[in-house]
Amino acid sequence: CGIIARVGTENAVPSLLKGLSNLEYRGYDSAGIALSNGHGIEVFKREGGIDRLVDHVTQLEPSTDVGIGHTRWSTHGPPTDVNAHPHTDCTGSLAVVHNGIIENHDALRSRLEAAGHEFRSDTDTEVVPHLIEEHLSTGRSTTEAFHAALAELSGSYAIAMIHEGETAIYAARNGSPMVLGIADGALFVASDVPAFLEFTDRVVYLEDGHAVRATPDGYTITEGDEVVHRPVRTVDWT
Ligand code: GLU
Repeated sequence: CGIIARVGTENAVPSLLKGLSNLEYRGYDSAGIALSNGHGIEVFKREGGIDRLVDHVTQLEPSTDVGIGHTRWSTHGPPTDVNAHPHTDCTGSLAVVHNGIIENHDALRSRLEAAGHEFRSDTDTEVVPHLIEEHLSTGRSTTEAFHAALAELSGSYAIAMIHEGETAIYAARNGSPMVLGIADGALFVASDVPAFLEFTDRVVYLEDGHAVRATPDGYTITEGDEVVHRPVRTVDWT
């Protein structure tokens, strides 16, 4: 339902939690964040209101320079802690948030389970991290594995991913909105401008078929193998 991601020089956690509460107006039944903390990926997620997630996260005071967050409006699988996003692969080396529906999730899940992947949730989304993991295991780079996984999905999606050991956000859209926000010292990826509006009003709207890799040094938008240049716009929110 709602996505917020941040990569940059300061702790991303406060902006991720703020972004999730900014997205509350869209409606949701669960919320979660995933962080890359230098040792691996940490996931915090809860069924119910964002205040429950905030209580949980605040007690632990995590810190990270890259993270992703999600408010879920469930379509596949009931609203539970386990079904809340982000979802991870078997090794826990990457985490994914997703808006929309993966139409071919049944076929992908059967294939991945037959190949030994163990699923934890009832969601359509969980096929995505397992697919990326599968492509990484054949020696592809993160970008190549992400793109190879996207090529196998049918349905509508906005997806954001983090991978352990990388200060980077990988994201893509097809049939579900996604926008990049450019702030001083940080880049945001979100499903909606209000998610990050108090941090920046400089935005790049992505189109269906676009993927982006954002790091503290900048971003690259691609469509297939081609690099795409998109205008930076200033949002007038008055
Ligand atoms: N289909 C996914 C799920 O049920 C994502 C729903 C959403 O857009 O929040 O988990």
